[in-house]
Amino acid sequence: MVVACVRSPFADPVAMLASPSVSSLASYGRTFVDSLLASGLASDDFPGGDCRSDLGNPTQVIGGVVAPSRRWEADNLVMVTLPWRAHAAWNPKLKITGLQVHRRVAASLRSALADIWTDAGKRQAEIDRLGMSSIGGGYNWRQVREGEGLSAHAYGCAVDFDPGRNSQGSTSANFARPENRYVVDDFGKAGWTWGGTWPRPDGMHFQATTVAIANDPAGVDRGA
Ligand SMILES: [Zn+2]
Repeated sequence: MVVACVRSPFADPVAMLASPSVSSLASYGRTFVDSLLASGLASDDFPGGDCRSDLGNPTQVIGGVVAPSRRWEADNLVMVTLPWRAHAAWNPKLKITGLQVHRRVAASLRSALADIWTDAGKRQAEIDRLGMSSIGGGYNWRQVREGEGLSAHAYGCAVDFDPGRNSQGSTSANFARPENRYVVDDFGKAGWTWGGTWPRPDGMHFQATTVAIANDPAGVDRGA
C-alpha cells in the first residue's frame, strides 16, 4: 500500500496546525489501536523514502483512547516561516504564515522554500501562479487513507500545496507542468520527494526523505 494524503478537513488554520479531536480519533476503533501498539509506528509503504524512523512516536494511548501526544508535539514541532504571503487552500481569507513540521526536517524545508522563492524571482505573482500560496497543510495527526498507519503528516515530515489543482489520484497535477516543475526540483534538491509520481499520485504532497540529525542542535529550530 502507498501513503495517502487526506485533504485537510479543518475549517481554520489554527485547527489545521493542531490536531483532530480525541473523539474523532476514537472512531478509528480497536484495530487501529492494536496496530499502533503492535508496530509503534505506521506500517504502510513509503515510496521514495521514509522520514519517520528517527522522529519519535507522535501517538499516545490513554485509557484505550488513541490521541496525539502533546509531549511529542512540544518536543518536536517547529514553525517554518513561508517566504511569501499565503492562505489556507480552503479559505483564501485565512492567512497562513508558516508550516508546522518536525524540527529534524525544518532546515531542509526552509532550504526548499528559499530556492523556490529565488527561482520565482521573489515575485508574489509567480508564487500565486504556481499555487504555492495555497496551503493544504503541514503537521496533522491522522491516518493514511488506505491503511492503518499514520500519515507522514502525523510525523510532521510532509506538507501539501495547492490541493485544488493537484488532487490525490489525479495524473495531471499542476506541479507536473513544465513551467511549474522547478517546485518539484527544488524540493528534490533539499531531499524531499513529491507524491505526484507515486502509484496513486498525490500531487499536492511533498515529503522529507531524510532526517537532518547532524543539523539538529537542541532548541535551535524551535519556532513560534
Ligand atoms: Zn500530504
